[in-house]
Amino acid sequence: MWIGYSGELEFSLDMQKLKLIYEGKAKKLFDTDDPELLIQEFKDDATAFDATKRGTIVNKGVINNKLSERIFILLSNNHIPTHFVKRLSDRDMLIKRVEIIPVEVTIRNIVAGGMAKLLGLEEGGVLKSPVLEYHYKEDKLHDPLINEYHIFWLGVATGKELDRIKKYSFKINEILKKFFDSKGLILVDFKLEFGRCKGKIILADEISPDTCRLWDKATKEKLDKDRFRRDLGGVEDAYQEVLRRVMKE
Ligand code: 5GP
Repeated sequence: MWIGYSGELEFSLDMQKLKLIYEGKAKKLFDTDDPELLIQEFKDDATAFDATKRGTIVNKGVINNKLSERIFILLSNNHIPTHFVKRLSDRDMLIKRVEIIPVEVTIRNIVAGGMAKLLGLEEGGVLKSPVLEYHYKEDKLHDPLINEYHIFWLGVATGKELDRIKKYSFKINEILKKFFDSKGLILVDFKLEFGRCKGKIILADEISPDTCRLWDKATKEKLDKDRFRRDLGGVEDAYQEVLRRVMKE
C-alpha cells in the first residue's frame, strides 16, 4: 500500500470510495476504509432558490474541486485548520470526517443577494467593515437568518465554539480578500461551514464560485453562481475564468 502524508495525517494513496453516506446538491460523500477519512465528490449539478431551480454547469465539479484545493492549502498555510487532506482526482477530494455544525456563516464585504433583499438596499454598496451572518442549515425552513441566541437555544454550538468560528471566519475573509484581489477579483461575500474533528473546530465544505460572489475588479462583471441563479449566461466561462486566474502564479 502506498502511503501519503498531509500534515500530521497518514493515508493510503489508493483510497477507494466505499459506501455513499450523503448526497447533497453539489457533492457526494463516501466512506473510505479509514474511519477518520471520507471522499468528497464534486458534481456538476447546480441548484438555486431552495432547489426550485435546477441545472448543470458543465465541468463545475472539476473546477470547484481544484479551486477548493488551492484555497484550502492557502488557508492552512495561514493557520486555518480545514478538513482538506488531498485532491485525489478531477472530482474527488480526500477529507477528514467531521461532525458538521448546522450553521452557515456568511461574510459580506459588499451589499448583494440576501442582504440587499433583507434591508432593501442597492447591490454594490461597500460595507465599512465586514458583516457576519448566521443561517440555520435546514432546507425545510429555507436556511433562516439566526443570531447567537438562537444558536445557543438550539444547542448546535457552544459559546467557545462560536468564538472560534467567528475568529476563523473574519481571518479567512482577510486572507481571501487579499488573494482574490491579487487575481483581479472582488470578494463580495461567501458562505462557510465548520465541523468538529477530534474536539476542534475546522473549516469544512468547499470554497468556490458556488459559495462565493466574485466580481471582476475592473468591470464588476459577475463571475460566480449568480450567473446561473439570474440566467445571465456564460456560466461555464465564468467558472473557467476564475480557475484560470486563481491557478495563474
Ligand atoms: P446570500 O445570503 O446573499 O444569498 O448568499 C451570500 C453568500 O453565501 C453568496 O456568496 C452565496 O453564494 C453563499 N451562500 C449562501 N447560502 C448558500 C447555499 O445554501 N449554498 C451555496 N452554494 N452558497 C450559499
